[in-house]
Amino acid sequence: MALATFKGGIHPPDKKDIAKDSAIKEAKSPQRVVIPLSQHLGAPCKPIVSIGQEVKKGEVIGEPGGFVSAPVHSSVSGKVIAIAEFPNTMGRMVNSIVIENDCKEEWTSLKDNPDYIKLSADELKEKVKAAGIVGMGGAAFPTLVKLSPPKEKPIDTIIINGAECEPYLTADYRLMLEKSSDIVEGLKILMRILGVNKGFIGIENNKPDAIDKMKDAAKNEPNIEVCGLEVKYPQGAEKMLISALTGREVPPRGLPMDVRVVVQNVGTALAVYEAARYGKPLIERVVTVTGEGIKTPANLMVKIGMLISDIVDQCGGFKDSAGKVVSGGPMMGFALSTLDVPVTKGTSGILVIPKEGVVHTEEFGPCIRCGRCIDICPMGLMPSMLSILSEKGHYEDAKEYNLFDCFECGSCAFVCPSKRPIVQFIRLAKSLTKP
Ligand code: SF4
Ligand code: SF4
Repeated sequence: MALATFKGGIHPPDKKDIAKDSAIKEAKSPQRVVIPLSQHLGAPCKPIVSIGQEVKKGEVIGEPGGFVSAPVHSSVSGKVIAIAEFPNTMGRMVNSIVIENDCKEEWTSLKDNPDYIKLSADELKEKVKAAGIVGMGGAAFPTLVKLSPPKEKPIDTIIINGAECEPYLTADYRLMLEKSSDIVEGLKILMRILGVNKGFIGIENNKPDAIDKMKDAAKNEPNIEVCGLEVKYPQGAEKMLISALTGREVPPRGLPMDVRVVVQNVGTALAVYEAARYGKPLIERVVTVTGEGIKTPANLMVKIGMLISDIVDQCGGFKDSAGKVVSGGPMMGFALSTLDVPVTKGTSGILVIPKEGVVHTEEFGPCIRCGRCIDICPMGLMPSMLSILSEKGHYEDAKEYNLFDCFECGSCAFVCPSKRPIVQFIRLAKSLTKP
């Protein structure tokens, strides 16, 4: 039987072998953490601590600045030594709280709740809110907002995204192998919050052991289905996943809730479980440190706010061949100009690309109208036109070609024989126009 999938897409080398067999290991606690007050989509948090103040691990240090926001917590116990702007992985300056680690690992008091599944939907939602959970697949959209759909948009299906279609990354894969039951519990909690009785866990078919593990963990849950998906990028994008698993098409500029679906990443499902069960806030996450240019690839449990330079050191440093460091995967990640930037709730990977793999975007050529990008765009767009219009400065005209439907998956740039930096052109046009 054909596996579930979507139209378009590409098949880049998956390169998962580099890190896939490294079990999740706790990273050594750093001397200090830099915790950005904005590490989610939406309003930045407001700091509620002051310089010199002692804080405990798990203590709230920033309160949400609006409905679309999420609190931030200290990932160490120690002393606040600065509140100032620091660069983030996207090169932006962000107000951040710097905490000197006393290495005592003293937790703030957490409320354990073995009977979490008996809590009401509102009580469970409150736990998700208090834990500061956001989408951990990269977008970092506050989970509370996804769990609060308007009355006219009822949800009937939740999908847990275990596709992890970005090449190189293996953090979700390891979580599915090592925390399968907790992820299923997280999905059950999400289903309870939204009053939904259908849950899917979608996993690309290049992870058969993860599929088996998740099937085993869900074997007594008749409302949860674990589905293998065709191995194709960007299979893990929300709209592609929904199309593959439910046959529903999210309308242009629409949201999953328009087709009665909520999608959450496997890491998010785990964070939801830990919040409901232990009252644990989101202060750490699994980060894949990988690529041909790093000495010791790993899947590390890293405290939010730990600097990437510290992580690279713990992984033995760079090989001589190292050319470029990327936050995230090679398709949707961001090249780093400095390693002194912190891991945030949305940091799924640190990828060290070798010199020969670095694409020099300044060496691109003109569009030769080969049409390859149009054939593979999963959104059915004309990336060629979007890049040409943006290159000429005709940003408003790019809107006629559905500029804002592009979710920057990078597939078009991957197939372009002229090596055109199509995604950069698209980002430029988006930044200079309004939807
Ligand atoms: S135009 Fe956007 S959505 Fe389409 S392939 Fe390019 S980056 Fe992906
Ligand atoms: S793949 Fe590149 S050269 Fe071909 S049509 Fe698209 S932008 Fe033009």
